[in-house]
Amino acid sequence: MKADVLVIGGGSAGLAAAVSAARHGARTVMVERHGMLGGMGTASLVHTFCGLYRIDGERPEFANEGIPVEVAERMAAATGGSPVKMGRVWVLPQHPVAFAAIADELIREAGVERLFHSELVALEPGWRARIACRGETLEIEAGAVVDASGDAVAAALLGVPDERAPAERLQRPAYVCGLQGVTGELSGLELGGRIVEGIRAGVLPKAAMGMHFRTSGRPGEVFGTLDLSGEETGAYDPTDPACLSAIESTGREVARAVVDYFRERQPGWEQAYIAHWPARAGVRESRRWIGEATLTGDEVLAGATHDDDVAFASWPLELRETNRGPKLRYPENGRAAGIPAGSLRAKGFERLFVAGRCLSCDHEAQASIRVMGTCFATGEAAGRLAAGSGSLQEP
Ligand SMILES: Cc1cc2nc3c(=O)[nH]c(=O)nc-3n(C[C@H](O)[C@H](O)[C@H](O)COP(=O)(O)OP(=O)(O)OC[C@H]3O[C@@H](n4cnc5c(N)ncnc54)[C@H](O)[C@@H]3O)c2cc1C
Repeated sequence: MKADVLVIGGGSAGLAAAVSAARHGARTVMVERHGMLGGMGTASLVHTFCGLYRIDGERPEFANEGIPVEVAERMAAATGGSPVKMGRVWVLPQHPVAFAAIADELIREAGVERLFHSELVALEPGWRARIACRGETLEIEAGAVVDASGDAVAAALLGVPDERAPAERLQRPAYVCGLQGVTGELSGLELGGRIVEGIRAGVLPKAAMGMHFRTSGRPGEVFGTLDLSGEETGAYDPTDPACLSAIESTGREVARAVVDYFRERQPGWEQAYIAHWPARAGVRESRRWIGEATLTGDEVLAGATHDDDVAFASWPLELRETNRGPKLRYPENGRAAGIPAGSLRAKGFERLFVAGRCLSCDHEAQASIRVMGTCFATGEAAGRLAAGSGSLQEP
């Protein structure tokens, strides 16, 4: 199979990269390991779009034009939702079911060829990719590649160095599940107090401390998020299957214990049940690419700009180095920093681009650029750059 642009991974960044490359005239193939697009925003049930709006906005004004706006508008039309101010920043509640359908529409309209249930397992510069699906493999020859895998898998497969924070500083994982049958208002404070009581009484495990709930906006539906340390099998390692397996099992075990406990004791929860497990637990940070440029947290805090900026990082540093909630750090001047094209270009390779949560940045900057609104913007830019460089007809 041949493509001008091959996009690895169909999360927020890969979706935008593929649509953008195809709209710029490139024959675009996207490979995605799951059976739907959206990545963490669907498979892991992450249900809020952050980073869509200007960081300093009195009103919700879009920070990046193009695909971020299109996705937001389609989402608002699908759910009837609108931007909500959370503390100092605006967010758009999103529904993973609607997101998967919007993603299908966008790639169909753009003419992207998508290969679901397909995993990139080998890559050679030039570019030749090997994709595995159910024991069969497929070769793809591509003019350019965009690594939107979230885990910089292309760097690992090429055997080149990547960046990774020390285990104790990596942003912690979380397990999100969908509940039905909850009635009445949700009070985070009250539910948190009940969980503390349950732990003290020895009815709930200590890990239940990381559990919190948010309504989806649909009658009776609530999302439960369990922040985890990731240290069930030792130091947290988001690329180690034993560690990932423990996160999945602990997530289900603790979520079930909390929901069973609330069903017995909490008014409005008598009919509550877990209706959806995620396809995978949520991982916020793993490998990052080393690019021609590296965006730093200091630059995000200073609202720095560069000559080759392609998007704005319009979210504060949201540090989650423990499972006890976020620490937010805002740019001093309220200005969003620019994300340079150099941080989307893999160092040492021609026609290899990167987007989303594994682009070239330091650990602190990743705490800002990983949000989905920003991933749409970096994906769109990477797709455009790849389309401009990736025609197989070019010498
Ligand atoms: C618990 C949690 C809560 C969060 N809360 C928010 C929030 O409220 N708002 C917000 O905006 N962001 C939030 N984030 C961050 C955000 O969801 C992610 O950083 C973002 O979705 C990353 O997008 P991405 O496209 O870079 O990567 P991903 O969404 O991880 O997508 C990568 C895709 O690549 C695929 N893939 C990987 N390797 C391969 C391969 N070898 N072959 C084929 N396919 C492959 C994966 O299956 C996946 O679909 C949260 C994250 C977590 C984990």
